[in-house]
Formats: sequence, C-alpha cells, structure tokens
Amino acid sequence: MRKSKQRDAIVRVLMSTKSHPTAEWIYEEVRKEMPNLSLGTVYRNLRMMKEKGEILELEQTGTFRRFDGNSANHYHFRCEKCSRVFDIDEPLVAGIDERVEKSTGFKVSHHRLEFRGLCRDCVTARNDS
Ligand SMILES: [Zn+2]
Ligand SMILES: [Zn+2]
Repeated sequence: MRKSKQRDAIVRVLMSTKSHPTAEWIYEEVRKEMPNLSLGTVYRNLRMMKEKGEILELEQTGTFRRFDGNSANHYHFRCEKCSRVFDIDEPLVAGIDERVEKSTGFKVSHHRLEFRGLCRDCVTARNDS
C-alpha cells in the first residue's frame, strides 16, 4: 500500500469532522476503508502533519490527545461534562501577541484560548433532570 494513500485517507477523515477526534477515533474510521492500517501509522502521520503545521494537536489534560484539521489559529470550548471540544467562531484577540512580546521580551508565535464550561446539550440535560 502506498504511504501517501494512507496519509490522504487520514487527512480526509480528519477534515471531514469538527469533533477534534483522537488518534484512536481516526484509526477506526480509516480502517473501514483500509483494514490493514495500523494505529502506529496513524500516530506517525499525525505527528508529521503536526510538525509541518498542517494540523493542530490540542493540549489535553486527560488521557487522549485530540487533533484538529483546521490549522489556522482559532479558539475552542471544552465541555467539562462530556469532554467534547467545539470551535468558537470568534475573531482572534487583536494585538495580544504584541502586548505580551512588549511586556516580556519573549517572541510569541501564536496564542491559544480555551473556554471551559457546559455545552448546550449538557446544560439542557441538567435542566431536564
Ligand atoms: Zn457537554
Ligand atoms: Zn478546532
């Protein structure tokens, strides 16, 4: 099997979802069309794409690292109940990188922002019970 074919399938699966999946989830999806795929291959491809800046890896306090097919800087909301990660459609905070550089003398490449709380489903479920 050609390596680039596996990579293409991994990219396609990752781009087709907004759920910020784990490597294990991507593996299960790609395996439906490529049964010979190994989890190690998925990890290796994700790492390569991350190093090239084609995808993002989300910092995760839990066991599983999640991946994002949208490599442009954007903000996230993480539900503390169901652990799902959503994209937040807000413009980036303007000028904050420059402000931090000025006050610290550090060289900022980008910043991440993650909101925490309860997603809509979990708020609804709580109100129903
Ligand atoms: Zn939730
Ligand atoms: Zn995202």
